Amino acid sequence: MTVHLLPWDTSRNLLEEANHLYAKAETFSCIEKGDLVAIKLHVGELGNPYYVQPYFVHEIARRVKEVGGKPFLTDSNTYYMAQRHNAYDHMNNALMNGFNMAPFIVADGLKSENFQLIKTKGILQEIEVSGAIVQADAMIVVSHCKGHELSGFGGAIKNLGMGCTPHAGKLRQHRTIGLKIDTSKCVGCGKCKEVCALHLPNIIEGKAHNTSTECMRCPVCIENCPMNAISYTDKENLSKALASAAYGALSAFKPKKVSYISFAKDIAQGCDCLPNPGKISFKDVGIFAADSAVSIDAAFLHSVDYHVFNEASELDCMVQVKEAKALGIQGELNPEIKTLN
Ligand code: SF4
Ligand code: SF4
Repeated sequence: MTVHLLPWDTSRNLLEEANHLYAKAETFSCIEKGDLVAIKLHVGELGNPYYVQPYFVHEIARRVKEVGGKPFLTDSNTYYMAQRHNAYDHMNNALMNGFNMAPFIVADGLKSENFQLIKTKGILQEIEVSGAIVQADAMIVVSHCKGHELSGFGGAIKNLGMGCTPHAGKLRQHRTIGLKIDTSKCVGCGKCKEVCALHLPNIIEGKAHNTSTECMRCPVCIENCPMNAISYTDKENLSKALASAAYGALSAFKPKKVSYISFAKDIAQGCDCLPNPGKISFKDVGIFAADSAVSIDAAFLHSVDYHVFNEASELDCMVQVKEAKALGIQGELNPEIKTLN
């Protein structure tokens, strides 16, 4: 399973060369005439400067049409309350960030009500997969490679696992990790309750407690506790849950109906969900294209010193990739990378 790479060399016409890359990788061979083709992407939170550049997506949509497919852009709503929490705000966000080259259909509906529960393997037994993903005939997974505070790295597997699931599926994945309040450090100030969107922690006898099943495992209370009393436990479980959910999302497709394009450019420490994704971790690598989520993510990670991400997140980035491979998602952990000359 070869991964093809167009190096980010701006002395070349990258938009034009990207088409040579897609030809080598046979990116559009997953599409048959009349297919409804999901272009699964992340439109970037408002203010984020690093999401995938729209003109590349414009060309991808054009190529899908050229081979007879009907492209639509898609992503699922976020489970946390921000600018992409419901379809109305999400669609406005997509337009403001320049994604107007094909209809943008929010995969899980207006308020995340449109999904199908699908059996999967691994740390999860089942996963909610967004309706427009389940119903699509083929999918081009367009990812941006970057760091991620909770999973070390975000690429194609995360785009499938978290990105193809509605609120309920995202919550299911996040609930695989734990949240611990160190009562020896807690001074009962109540800041965690104040900043939590659901006001979950209870302050009992001067100490915070949180046993709610609604807790989203977002970082808000952790980041705001003045005593550093709140922390995650079992963080590695989320990486395994991403692989498990990715397996579920891929189960909705017939074999050879999904292709992958990953942009390793503006590789920030934080993800596209953040308006402030932090410093750039690596110089631009290029555009990868492949027919496998495992191979394309492994290819990117082997192209950079991903231990930088590991140190920032205190997690091994390769866990999600190895878990996806172990679950049976096709691909190689050390794929051959063919560079487009
Ligand atoms: S913010 Fe921290 S110190 Fe204050 S109540 Fe919550 S856990 Fe305790
Ligand atoms: S992680 Fe903290 S801020 Fe987030 S929902 Fe749970 S208690 Fe609230």
